[in-house]
Amino acid sequence: MELIDGNQIATTIVAELKAAVAALGGRPPCLALVRVGDDPASVSYVKKKEKTAEEIGVTSRVILPPVTITQDELFKLIDDLNADPAVDGILVQSPLPKHIDEVAVFRRVSPHKDVDGFNTINLGKVAQEDETGFVACTPAGIMELLARSQVDLKGKHVVVLGRSLIVGKPVALLALQKKAGANGTVTICHSATANLPAITRQADVLIAAIGRAEFVTADMVKPGAVIIDVGINRVADATKKSGYRLVGDVNFPAVSPLAAKITPVPGGVGPMTVAMLMSNTLKARRLAATAR
Ligand code: NDP
Repeated sequence: MELIDGNQIATTIVAELKAAVAALGGRPPCLALVRVGDDPASVSYVKKKEKTAEEIGVTSRVILPPVTITQDELFKLIDDLNADPAVDGILVQSPLPKHIDEVAVFRRVSPHKDVDGFNTINLGKVAQEDETGFVACTPAGIMELLARSQVDLKGKHVVVLGRSLIVGKPVALLALQKKAGANGTVTICHSATANLPAITRQADVLIAAIGRAEFVTADMVKPGAVIIDVGINRVADATKKSGYRLVGDVNFPAVSPLAAKITPVPGGVGPMTVAMLMSNTLKARRLAATAR
């Protein structure tokens, strides 16, 4: 079994991006990070994004509206960022408070600044294999992890567990694309899929993104498969100071001995998501520069 080390691969990408930003003419790329309220996980995610931006030489502009912000006020804030020529990328940290329609907010971000890749236009561009768009960061990170771990999907059966708009569907579309590294034969499974283990056992590459702690067990996996675990789940653990530990959607101790390659949690897909956000921000800067 080979461990796919997301931390190491993300570190390499961050160094590549740092060099690319240093070689850019003009002002550095600028990323606006909008965090509504003080959800603890969002606070730590935004901090990590700010820190990585700084490391690469991307300017970040953090905007912290109160949790009471209305949808219209948030739309106005996004419209202002859309119109601001000094801002290349906009990220609205999820989850948003219940009174705000998250999908409507994602759609409000200009497709030219949608570095999260959640806008309808950008998801459509993934389906159309139009590379001028932005690919959502986690799916893009998964494809990059596979490519940099010498996993070619051509002719492989790729089974994706989960059909969310931010992970399952876009990663399935990417694996299916008619291009080098992709060309997979893709099956997407979800909560209404019948006889799930019989399908996952056929996977040469299994991508688990369902948000269920240690759901994928050894009997669900074909020996020699490549396993990508996207899940981030907290399970109670009294031996930890925090009172919990993070586990993926895959039962790592049981599945890893069977796998040809596998990502750990933490330290697999997670670090790639932030690296891809920075890559998208650099792309937005370049696209804005060529549009002028
Ligand atoms: P969602 O909750 O949006 O989607 C979960 C998907 O899994 C749904 O399609 C759901 O099916 C399916 N599902 C749920 N239970 C089952 C089941 N028992 N059998 C089969 N399918 C099931 O989750 P996300 O896609 O947003 O996230 C998935 C996981 O990935 C989470 O743990 C999340 O924390 C993690 N994540 C990690 C990231 C990273 O950077 N590493 C980034 C984003 C997410 P249905 O559609 O039928 O409801």
